[in-house]
Amino acid sequence: MIVLKFGGSSVANATAMSRVLDIVEKAAEKDRVVLVSSAIGGCTDALIEIGRSEDPERQIDELLGRHITIINRLFTGSERSAATAECRKVFSEIRCIPPVIEAYGEVLSTGILEYKLSCEGYRTTWLDSRKLVRLSPDGQVNMELTCKNISEAVGNCPRTRIFVAPGFIAGDCEGEVTTLGRGGSDYSASIYAAALDADDLQIWTDVPGIMTTNPKLVPSARTIPEISYKAAFDMARYGAKVLYAPAVAPARDKGMAINIRNTFDPAHPGTVICERNASEAEWKGVSSIDDPIDGTTLVCLTGEGPLAGDSALRRMATALRESGIKALDEPWSEDGNFFVRVRSNVARSTVASIHREFFEERSLRTVDVWVAGDGAVGKALKEIIGACGGRFPAAGKHIVVKEVSSDRNFVDKVLAEARRRSVFVDCTDSDDIWRQFIPLFNAGINVVTSNRRSLAIPYVDYAAIKAAAAENGCFFRYDTTVGNALPALQSVSDGANCGDGVSLIEAVVSCTLNYIISGYDGTRSDSFATLLRRAQAEGLTEYDPRIDLGGRDALRKLIILSREAGVQLEEKDVEIVPMLGPEYFEGSLEDFYKKLDEDEPQFIRREDELDALGMRQRFVASLRRNADGSHKAEIRMRLVPESSPFYWISGTENVIAIHSGDTYPLVIKGSGEGARLAARGIIRNILQ
Ligand code: ADP
Ligand code: ASP
Ligand code: MG
Repeated sequence: MIVLKFGGSSVANATAMSRVLDIVEKAAEKDRVVLVSSAIGGCTDALIEIGRSEDPERQIDELLGRHITIINRLFTGSERSAATAECRKVFSEIRCIPPVIEAYGEVLSTGILEYKLSCEGYRTTWLDSRKLVRLSPDGQVNMELTCKNISEAVGNCPRTRIFVAPGFIAGDCEGEVTTLGRGGSDYSASIYAAALDADDLQIWTDVPGIMTTNPKLVPSARTIPEISYKAAFDMARYGAKVLYAPAVAPARDKGMAINIRNTFDPAHPGTVICERNASEAEWKGVSSIDDPIDGTTLVCLTGEGPLAGDSALRRMATALRESGIKALDEPWSEDGNFFVRVRSNVARSTVASIHREFFEERSLRTVDVWVAGDGAVGKALKEIIGACGGRFPAAGKHIVVKEVSSDRNFVDKVLAEARRRSVFVDCTDSDDIWRQFIPLFNAGINVVTSNRRSLAIPYVDYAAIKAAAAENGCFFRYDTTVGNALPALQSVSDGANCGDGVSLIEAVVSCTLNYIISGYDGTRSDSFATLLRRAQAEGLTEYDPRIDLGGRDALRKLIILSREAGVQLEEKDVEIVPMLGPEYFEGSLEDFYKKLDEDEPQFIRREDELDALGMRQRFVASLRRNADGSHKAEIRMRLVPESSPFYWISGTENVIAIHSGDTYPLVIKGSGEGARLAARGIIRNILQ
């Protein structure tokens, strides 16, 4: 015999019920089945409300409506009429507001299920749990009598393939209708299984088994594949609603496993509750139970095996302290469970914090991060790190942002307060913050920067900074200075460090210029000046956009790229041909825009000529290795054909082509602008 129990959400509507019927029919292929069901989701609550209401008609009609909708979806023709009539008959009793009104929900749901299975040709019998499951005068289930009743009832129907029994409801010692308590259908199923010595007891619900905590509170909860009767009972009684605690005993006393499964993912093996003696300590789950009277919540951590009590209590206390949660008293332990009581308004974060400590990757190493610069990048950094609670389990690290500051003396503070191995992040646009990097390294603090000005410095200084980092065993990472989150620098240094080295780097890396130039290609619906103004308004340019047009930013990037390729390039080694002639660089910004407007027809003419040739203009920074081993670095407008990786670029895309003796270059292309991208690149550098 197989006993299958389905909870309220598993039978909440016709679609869910159809899944239930599939599962039951599959089981019935193997063996005889007892199907125990709850009322349709929310029905018991609605009935209790109806019982209390002064004027319950509307609520009764609504509940009737839900049942009729299910019937209409499951049945047609005369079967539909019969099912509807049966349902209305039960509702005529409900309308009289009988005592124990909540007992009708399971009668309704199992009536529908049994009729549907019989319509499908199964031999079915509806078992009246009110008569079979009986309580003693002390209110406990009279197992002896109940087992006798059930086995007789089943024994009387040898040809029945599928028995259908309402969960939750029972008869008291005088035979009056009663219930087994809220959530009691699980208990009913366990009782039926024990009475019939079932080979299999499965409780089907809306989650894949008993999980390490309630997944609705903590999404990272995981299924517990196997758990002892005791631990399952403890989790249940301290609030894991997935199982009604009294359901454990009948199965346990028969040595019968209980398998908790997910109706909405039938292939998932779920949880097996059985007799087990863990030889090593195993943490099982965190549950919580509210006390609505005093507004507090008891949070319980359950384990199995030889648990080290003291350290568990210490870890619990530390986890709460780190999350800023104040417990109402010190955590304590009792019989394999560890408790703490908190105010109910912090119950969820308490559960999450204890769950994190005991069930999420435990070996996360904490990295303190001090951020200089609270502009867009600094803010994005804080936001991204905050969103995941600083936890980056794949990298095994937990980032803690100690402070974000734009104070000029911030480095002094970091030197005074930061622990060794912290990370100092420079996302400023300061010209001279790099002068403080060496003291940081000497103090054992790592540096990550997205500030190009900190790299495009005289080579001797650059080399000294790198040497100081190496000597102190610190890292100095700055991948975001070229191409933001693109793997540009890494690819260049990889190319430089192996085989033939890098023979040519070509890069279109000025976001501002790309934005303007690529916006100008093709349609030319906006004038050059309009595009430039827009780029300025969007914060893509320096205060005076001529600085960008002059190639200054591209120069810094080329210097950084070149040094990564092992070339000791200085500013003076780079030949820059600005995009516009020197006449544009004289006078005020106003004059500049005026001149651009005047020259617009000229620009258009030039673009038209290029279109005819199938070429486009791109502002390309390049470093070429000459035959004699020297290098030529230049930044200038280039005409590129359609076959060039630079031809098709949109918006703020960056393209870096690295040639290293192979026939084709490595081309890296992607978004090169944006505070979030930079922040992501910085995080990668921190975690690396
Ligand atoms: P059913 O109607 O099937 O009896 P319940 O609502 O009684 O279902 O129980 C299932 C619910 O229990 C889940 O949806 C989940 O939110 C809650 N729950 C609480 N603690 C746990 C836990 N540790 N593991 C799984 N589910 C839990
Ligand atoms: N329908 C009952 C309740 O809501 C029993 C159960 O679902 O287990 O409590
Ligand atoms: Mg339940």
